[in-house]
Amino acid sequence: MFNALVVRKDDEGKTSAAVEQLSEDDLPNAEVTVAVDYSTVNYKDGLCIGPGGGLVRNYPHVPGIDFAGTVETSDDDRYKPGDKVVLTGWRVGEAHWGGYSQKARVRADWLVPLPEGLDTRQAMAVGTAGFTAMLAVMALEDHGIKKGPVLVTGAAGGVGSVATAILANLGYQVAAVTGRPETADYLKDLGATQIVAREEINETVKKPLEGETWGGCVDAVGGAMLARVLGQMEYGASVAAVGLAGGAALPATVIPFLLRGVNLLGIDSVMQPYDNRLRAWERIAKDLPMNKLEAMVQPATLGDLPKLGTDILKGQVKGRVVVDVN
Ligand code: NDP
Repeated sequence: MFNALVVRKDDEGKTSAAVEQLSEDDLPNAEVTVAVDYSTVNYKDGLCIGPGGGLVRNYPHVPGIDFAGTVETSDDDRYKPGDKVVLTGWRVGEAHWGGYSQKARVRADWLVPLPEGLDTRQAMAVGTAGFTAMLAVMALEDHGIKKGPVLVTGAAGGVGSVATAILANLGYQVAAVTGRPETADYLKDLGATQIVAREEINETVKKPLEGETWGGCVDAVGGAMLARVLGQMEYGASVAAVGLAGGAALPATVIPFLLRGVNLLGIDSVMQPYDNRLRAWERIAKDLPMNKLEAMVQPATLGDLPKLGTDILKGQVKGRVVVDVN
């Protein structure tokens, strides 16, 4: 028997989440059984712990879109008992049972060997949010980061915190946009050189082009903020669009693309090909300072998850939550 957070749906369609005891027979069929050490809380987890946000297919459901742990049994040659592994994406924790459990059973194709230099706790301090932040930084590098500061929106959140720490460590000036002024010291400790108040940049676009200010942008917010930022980019600079914490609409004009050659780069972490996953995890082990990562961490247990799920949907989680499932 082992513990897991199970979400159930009643006859009226209302969901509720609680820690329950499950047996190995409850696990789905797949090649690799993993003893999970840690999971974490991402924005999507908030949806899946709660009403599902259209992501969960079947109930009862075990959420947790990422986990790190140790292989217990494997029917696939690539993994053997004792191997340390990390999983993000592939709709695990949404369409498939996830990491809020002491055991998980998943397809071998979905796993990545833990990179040298990271333990399972650090891997989940990074988690999907941090992995995606690294993908965004890699995309900006591939397209060339310009002279001005790199803007990070939703900076005190998970994606934003990791992006800030990585970019600062790589030597870029980082301008961190936050709606929580009390996080300014935290963001400066991660390496931000400038704090931008959310309301300064959250307004609807009035002029399609403003002064050329930012040499690149990692955007976790979307909506009106992303639209506004497009008009503030330097000539030829790129915005990596990661999230929609501020909305899915994009009330923008095409003028920044046509007159300034601005690039809007889409970042998806879920279906990311294996080779790029390896590359991103190796870059994380190399370019994310572990003392900065530790400063982002707040610890939690399976029992804390229902509340944390609600908090992250309200934008009230700072940095990264590491869930010790044991
Ligand atoms: P968090 O909740 O940790 O961070 C989001 C941050 O956005 C908040 O902390 C807050 O930052 C800011 N924010 C929240 N609401 C608003 C608002 N209404 N207007 C402006 N800013 C707001 O979430 P994550 O960092 O885990 O994820 C961020 C986004 O990225 C989510 O939309 C998530 O779904 C998406 N995502 C996408 C992935 C992909 O593959 N493309 C993978 C992972 C995440 P502050 O308080 O500093 O203002």
